[in-house]
Amino acid sequence: MDDLTGLRTPYYLYDLDLLKKTVSEAAAGAARYGYSIHYAIKANNDPVVSAVIRDMGLGADCVSGNEVRRSLEYGFAPEGIVFAGVGKTDDEIKLALAEDIFCMNVESVEELEVIQEIADLYGMRARVALRVNPSVEAETHQYITTGLNENKFGISLPHLRKALDICAGSGHVDFMGLHFHIGSQITSLEPYRRLCERVNIIWKEFGIETYGGRMVNLGGGLGIDYNDPEQNPVPDFSSFFAVFKETLDLPSGTELRFELGRSLVGQCGRIVTKVLYTKQGAGRKFVITDAGMTELMRPSLYQATHRIKNISSSGDPELYDVVGPVCESTDVFGKDILLPATSRGDLIQILSCGAYAQSMSLDFNLRDKPPARYSAGKKILSAAGLKGLKSIGSLMS
Ligand SMILES: *Cc1c(COP(=O)(O)O)cnc(C)c1O
Repeated sequence: MDDLTGLRTPYYLYDLDLLKKTVSEAAAGAARYGYSIHYAIKANNDPVVSAVIRDMGLGADCVSGNEVRRSLEYGFAPEGIVFAGVGKTDDEIKLALAEDIFCMNVESVEELEVIQEIADLYGMRARVALRVNPSVEAETHQYITTGLNENKFGISLPHLRKALDICAGSGHVDFMGLHFHIGSQITSLEPYRRLCERVNIIWKEFGIETYGGRMVNLGGGLGIDYNDPEQNPVPDFSSFFAVFKETLDLPSGTELRFELGRSLVGQCGRIVTKVLYTKQGAGRKFVITDAGMTELMRPSLYQATHRIKNISSSGDPELYDVVGPVCESTDVFGKDILLPATSRGDLIQILSCGAYAQSMSLDFNLRDKPPARYSAGKKILSAAGLKGLKSIGSLMS
């Protein structure tokens, strides 16, 4: 990858070929059963990455008013936008109504009452799905489960009847169906099978159809292989969708939607960073890179691990702690990482940084926010090359 040297580091590097391959496999897997996908734009809101996904016909899944605005700016159609979040402000609710997005995923009885009041005030009808907390263990890191009773997300089952009755009694709410999202980086399909079984029971017990329910949004959360991204660059979407086809037992004609973030973009991105120093500590050797937790928060936020490669050296392997320059002890990308003998100036790549890396970046320590670059496979695209891409030209004028 010699053509990478000479560029100022650090930067995010997105392989648009892999992105397109991943999104098209996901879209084909969903289309087989007539399911649709909304891209969870919080995973990566880069304009080029988002435009590629928009062009492949996906909708958008937003968790803030600004994400709704940004998705519209990127050209996602309002009728393909869903909006979740436990703390929607009045202004965000008004925006969703004014822009006539497809659906708000409502997370509490209290929020439903506010949505109803605002819709009433404006003489509108708000399309809503009720986000249900199904109490399903997602078998992932405890900080990224969302569907357990202890989590803040969704309406708990004891309150679902009340929410349904509010919808039924309101002239200002159009009840579409149910929404679920049980967590992120879920690598076993078992939690999804259990989710489907819960959905079947909830649908029947609560008589969702009698309330006009005609849609289930099953959220996202499908994981990627952080250990061996080069061997497994594309998640197994067909097995994922097959679980729902096999396990859900809903009236025919019920529309199924998914909100995928990480699984679509996680593997197409990497961080390219330079070694500033290799420092001999007491009993350990540190590789200090010019990227830090400000560019990739996942290791310090939830003990995530990423594959780290030295692409400049072919020396004998040694063990290093790879750390960033930020003034926090958790600013560590990996401990006891085997790398070829590493020295100042070597280029390091941190893999699987397409999701929840750039979109979570901070300017803590007043650090610069690094740019994104793009490649087609291994070939870096120039600005002119990018402008020539059909989907992207309009965003880069
Ligand atoms: C974050 C989020 C998603 C996407 O999660 P991934 O793990 O990136 O697939 C989907 N739906 C909702 C409501 C979310 O908050």
